[in-house]
Amino acid sequence: MIILVVNAGSSSLKFQLYQMKDETVLAKGKVERIGMESAILHFEPAGKQEIREVREILEHTTAFRKVMDILVHPVHGILQSVDQIEAVGHRVVHGGESFSGSVLVDEEVKREIKRLFDLAPLHNPAHILGIQAVEANMPDIPQAVVFDTAFHQTMPPTSYLYPIPMVLYKKHKIRRYGFHGMSHAYVSERAAAFLGRPLKELKLVTCHIGNGASCAAILGGRSMDTSMGMTPLEGLMMGTRSGDIDPAIVPVTMSKEDLTLAEVSSMLNRHSGLMAISGIGSDMREIEQAIKTGDRNASLAFEMYEYRLRKYIGAYAAAMNGLDAVVFTAGVGENSAMLRAAVCRNLSFLGIELDEQANERKESGEREITAPESKVKALVIPTNEELVIARDTYRLILHRNDVE
Ligand code: ADP
Repeated sequence: MIILVVNAGSSSLKFQLYQMKDETVLAKGKVERIGMESAILHFEPAGKQEIREVREILEHTTAFRKVMDILVHPVHGILQSVDQIEAVGHRVVHGGESFSGSVLVDEEVKREIKRLFDLAPLHNPAHILGIQAVEANMPDIPQAVVFDTAFHQTMPPTSYLYPIPMVLYKKHKIRRYGFHGMSHAYVSERAAAFLGRPLKELKLVTCHIGNGASCAAILGGRSMDTSMGMTPLEGLMMGTRSGDIDPAIVPVTMSKEDLTLAEVSSMLNRHSGLMAISGIGSDMREIEQAIKTGDRNASLAFEMYEYRLRKYIGAYAAAMNGLDAVVFTAGVGENSAMLRAAVCRNLSFLGIELDEQANERKESGEREITAPESKVKALVIPTNEELVIARDTYRLILHRNDVE
């Protein structure tokens, strides 16, 4: 079965085409700058030459039509006909309390995703545009949605409630949801396989450290707590997001700097984190480079970033009353030996013994970076959120076919 995975953003549409028989990626690509005259279509067919085209693409339906055209292009294409695609799976950021797993799209599912616009104003509207773009171009194809929040629906109220008046939860569902769920679920399963132990017996802290970053306490395969909250702003210090701060900073900043709520929100989401402290940028590679040249602000940014991550790992070890392994994943987690080394060295009291050479080795696969005798393991597990979406979509379609 061939499945197309779609991740629609407000001005972008990323896609990957999977052959589910052996889970191979047949092609991937993205349309960026949707809404502009100079939108960019980038296409990478497996075993063929990449293409990059600049053209006017004003909305998502046209973007998706371009994707279909390129998939069947006589020279660069990978399919004879788009009818070979049997299902489309979408990433959806916010599933609220309504979705604790992936589902096939129907009118009620779309209504529910729309009802959640308030909780994810930047993401969920774009996902609906993605679903509609597929409907407009392939009216009969089944579609599934896979949520960033769903995996964390197992969190107990002690983790997911904020200590604020309950009326806010009851009336408006203001609570912690958590994100990067597909990634935390995927790497925890892979970690158990790597360690050769049943996931049910393990206490893991999974650290998804990319532009956005979150860690999760995974107890027996279930999310018990995670650092992102009602929105992806809470928790760890990130590339441009502050993570945890005293909420009183919001009104004080508004008053002292004469800023609107929207401006403070933009400051915390787009102009904070590594970017704000380093004054250089949000990319960990740039920070590491600057540290090598003796830049003090870059060093401070790195130390704060590492310190805040380490505190969460310690807190989650306490929350689970134990720890078997720490798992690093996503852009920074998979690539920054410097961050992993700092975190692991500073957590030696927990029983983590870093193997410095293994950590420095430039490998790309799943690997252990602790010494064989280390009581608590540290692993690097590359994440694969698209594969999770493809697998869930495949499973839902097979189930539907069985029922019919
Ligand atoms: P996103 O959250 O957008 O999916 P990624 O998981 O791709 O992000 O992570 C992107 C981040 O990974 C970049 O901002 C960069 O800081 C970091 N990164 C990528 N490669 C390296 C590297 N070799 N060393 C350190 N950091 C890296």
